[in-house]
Amino acid sequence: MNSICVVGSLNMDLVINVDNMPKLGQTVIGKNLKKVCGGKGANQAVAIARLGANVNMIGKVGDDDFGQSLINSLKQDKVNTDFVKIRKDIPTGLAFITVNKDADNSIIVSPGANYDLNEEDINDCIDAIKCSNIVVTQLEIPLKTVSYLLKVAKSLGKYTILNPAPATKLSDEIIKNVDLLTPNETELEILSEFQIRNEDDIVLAGRKLLKKGVKELVVTLGEKGSLYMNNNTIKRFKSFKVKAIDTTAAGDSFTGALAVALSNDNNIDKAIEFASKVGALTVTKCGAQSSLPYLEDVLNFKG
Ligand code: ATP
Repeated sequence: MNSICVVGSLNMDLVINVDNMPKLGQTVIGKNLKKVCGGKGANQAVAIARLGANVNMIGKVGDDDFGQSLINSLKQDKVNTDFVKIRKDIPTGLAFITVNKDADNSIIVSPGANYDLNEEDINDCIDAIKCSNIVVTQLEIPLKTVSYLLKVAKSLGKYTILNPAPATKLSDEIIKNVDLLTPNETELEILSEFQIRNEDDIVLAGRKLLKKGVKELVVTLGEKGSLYMNNNTIKRFKSFKVKAIDTTAAGDSFTGALAVALSNDNNIDKAIEFASKVGALTVTKCGAQSSLPYLEDVLNFKG
């Protein structure tokens, strides 16, 4: 079976509920503290594994309980963690998430070991890339590492997918080594430096990135579906109708599902249809990894 390599972040999310967000200088008492496995890299690796594909995760955690829990949880989901490195003197990535009674949140991320993933680590883990046909990455690790990874992956003839989140301006070097880019609307606006007010603007912004060397683009539009572009085609895909409860990780599951479908030799239309089902199912449940569907759920989903 084909394998997919995910290179990216692993974070422990510490989620706490409060009635009201603390004001500057104020202390408030929180409740229901939860420890939840996250990080866009880990989320996408779990999404891929649950959809039945072999997945190797390249990443880095600290030598602490959070790091160990993240590795154990990936293992439970059958993600190969042989290429997740443990750094002795840097803490595991953490996200401190405060949710108020109106379900608004505020988040502080401590990238920790994620920001220590470097070119040398990519070289050390080259076997994980060599044995995969698709390489998937995001932007929660250093841009220098993303740039190097994509160059190496392309030199090995791999198909590369970049989910450009959290969005930041990207170098031409990164852009030209991306086969498939999966931004949402906001990310596309930042990447293309083009203000988006309507769907025509999405196309214009997408064209700017295609001109720079991205081969294909799927812009995700939440409940409005998605839009596919390459240099010759533009196609619009509707979303599947579901009762959305929590949209967290919809983008992660969508990108992971695209990778799975493409690695199984589906054409892009079939891959987007599959990913749209996976994205829709994800928003019907709460949380990040807890909401990621299994292949069986997708096959049973009538839409
Ligand atoms: P997030 O940052 O929350 O992970 P995102 O902004 O990166 O998400 P979205 O565009 O919200 O990604 O969602 C990805 C895909 O999931 C969409 O293109 C769509 O196919 C599906 N999806 C998202 N929200 C809904 C919804 N409310 N109903 C049906 N499908 C949805």
